[in-house]
Amino acid sequence: MSQHDIGLVGLAVMGQNLVLNMANKGFSVGVNNRTTSTMEKFVNGLGDLPEGVVHEGTPDRIAGYETLEELVKNLKSPRRVMLMVKAGPAVDAIADTLVPLLDEGDIIIDGGNADFEDTNRRVPHYREKGIQFLGVGVSGGEEGALKGPSIMPGGSEDAWPHVKDIYQAISAKVEDGSPCCEWVGPDGAGHYVKMVHNGIEYGDMQLICEAYFLMKEALGLSNQEFHEVFKEWDEGTLDSYLIEITKDIFTVKDPETGNYLVDQILDTAKQKGTGKWMSQHALDLGVPTTLVTEAVYARCLSGQKDARVRASTQLPGPAEPLPTIEDKKAFIEDIRQALYASKIVSYAQGYVQLDAAAEEFGWKLNNGDIALLWRGGCIIRSRFLGDIKAAFDKNPELENLLLDDFFKNAIGKAQAGWRNVVATGARLGIPMPAFTAALSYYDGYRRDRLPANLLQAQRDYFGAHTYERIDKPRGETFHTDWIRER
Ligand code: NAP
Repeated sequence: MSQHDIGLVGLAVMGQNLVLNMANKGFSVGVNNRTTSTMEKFVNGLGDLPEGVVHEGTPDRIAGYETLEELVKNLKSPRRVMLMVKAGPAVDAIADTLVPLLDEGDIIIDGGNADFEDTNRRVPHYREKGIQFLGVGVSGGEEGALKGPSIMPGGSEDAWPHVKDIYQAISAKVEDGSPCCEWVGPDGAGHYVKMVHNGIEYGDMQLICEAYFLMKEALGLSNQEFHEVFKEWDEGTLDSYLIEITKDIFTVKDPETGNYLVDQILDTAKQKGTGKWMSQHALDLGVPTTLVTEAVYARCLSGQKDARVRASTQLPGPAEPLPTIEDKKAFIEDIRQALYASKIVSYAQGYVQLDAAAEEFGWKLNNGDIALLWRGGCIIRSRFLGDIKAAFDKNPELENLLLDDFFKNAIGKAQAGWRNVVATGARLGIPMPAFTAALSYYDGYRRDRLPANLLQAQRDYFGAHTYERIDKPRGETFHTDWIRER
């Protein structure tokens, strides 16, 4: 009987492509799916898949099993069972079914988009039962899963050496061949980093959309011109997967109407929740991840289409005359600078949140390695992440990415354009929640004095919440009877 290197449960789009990737790299994989017909269709159809999708010998390295019992019996020891199913209770249900079938030291891997709090709970829970549990973030969608995703593993560290070769073999690689897969940390650390990746993805997408909207509303660019602009941007510091696909989007026509497809799409954004999770946890930690939060809210506001249509005929915008933009080319360059500077702020905020989470949970995260994990394979992959890795390699204790010399200079150069874009967009009445949130954070972070002295006075006035003084040691608190003193 064949002894597979790994078992994979859950043959939807991600599971099937990961199995093909593993088998293409020479690993033998046993597979199972709740709906057996899906598994049979997948296994029986392997021979019909095109050469680029399956390599020579790949079909022989994949076998289907109707039950988890049969799957487990056919795995090498320690058994590695990867779950690629809908995140949530399905993971607990399958893992609980697997536990009595497994031996001490066997490994369950949750490769789905789990809430990190679930993984924080599952790792010790299954450890008590003698099972090593890994929570592994996988990014890159269907194509990444097949050709090389970004993989963010966390959980029981003793299990890592047993899965490292498989995951590093199937992951994306950067130019020098380094895999976009390295150990992240204990408990839910891998899923936490995946959550931050997804939140940053929300931010990147929103920033690109704001740049597009400004160019459309303020400059009236055509789709052909958008294609040219994004093509040029993709060749510079903004070089990234999201800019690349955005460039392509502007070339696609709708077969039904002959119009550009992007113009036929309803302007209401959907979301699955991982951006929201990041914002929620930022609030729990008390760190300002404003840009991702604004990106989530922007999707929410876009979803209120009917209300927006009603309001559009009632609420006045800026009074005429509106500012005119004389030099289109120069304004497009300002928008590029605004996008670049805002993106730096977004990643700076993301890393501050990672540092705060690491402190909260006692994880030791390597920020440079995390940049490398995101450098290839995933949706936020970009040249820019190479610069972030260099910054953290130079100073692993870097308090905020904005303080790194490279990024400090980059923002210094970009800020005139960035400020012009925010001011002009505001005067034209064009919404730019992420551009403005990024600039407000930057201006707040670089101030040694903020108006919180007044805020503390208000709190002390109405609630005797006390305040600290600039001329007394930190931690010493004072209260004033404001009514008597006024
Ligand atoms: P999905 O639609 O999230 O999940 C479908 C799979 O889960 C099917 O195999 C389904 O089995 C199985 N399943 C659902 N409930 C189950 C239960 N109670 N018991 C057993 N099996 C159950 O599939 P996906 O899009 O391939 O994603 C898989 C995981 O990867 C998810 O956690 C997702 O969030 C994550 N992820 C997805 C992407 C992406 O681009 N799609 C990217 C990164 C990560 P049946 O066939 O029997 O229904």
